[in-house]
Amino acid sequence: MSAESKGRALFLDRDGTIIVDVGYPRDPAQVALLPGAAEALAALAPHAALVIVSNQSGLARGLITPAEAAAVHARVALLLADAGVAVAGAFYCPHGPDDGCRCRKPAAGLLLDAAAAHDLDLAASIVVGDKPSDVAAGAAAGCRAGLLFAAADAPPEARAAADVVGWPAAAARLLALLA
Ligand SMILES: [Mg+2]
Ligand SMILES: [Zn+2]
Repeated sequence: MSAESKGRALFLDRDGTIIVDVGYPRDPAQVALLPGAAEALAALAPHAALVIVSNQSGLARGLITPAEAAAVHARVALLLADAGVAVAGAFYCPHGPDDGCRCRKPAAGLLLDAAAAHDLDLAASIVVGDKPSDVAAGAAAGCRAGLLFAAADAPPEARAAADVVGWPAAAARLLALLA
């Protein structure tokens, strides 16, 4: 990372953005990177710290145990590492939508916690995710930009609403923003 880009983050939603969204993933065997994600993140990593920010309400709902969540996270990190992608950090909200927490996106808490832990410049940072709540969390945290992502095989309505469809396109857009 160059001195110029130090402190800048690319905040990444996880499920439906980095990995295939299976809904409340609890088994590492369910983890699959989306096509092109690893290559894109490898290209982006020199330009910004890669930070995962993910709602995991399956914990609050009793659908996922903390150990299962940790194992799924470890699998994501391993698959990325195998592709040469180092993630600077991962911040998860374990709460449910009715818990009134400060961290469940669209709230800004995960991004604020990441900024404090990693000395990040939020105003220079960008968020990418497959839900409007991801982009809203970035706005709430004062990020410079947010991209609504859709996987190439997402439903037509999701692709129509997205800023970018598929990782090759997302990487090109993000590289232009971060260059
Ligand atoms: Mg998602
Ligand atoms: Zn929370």
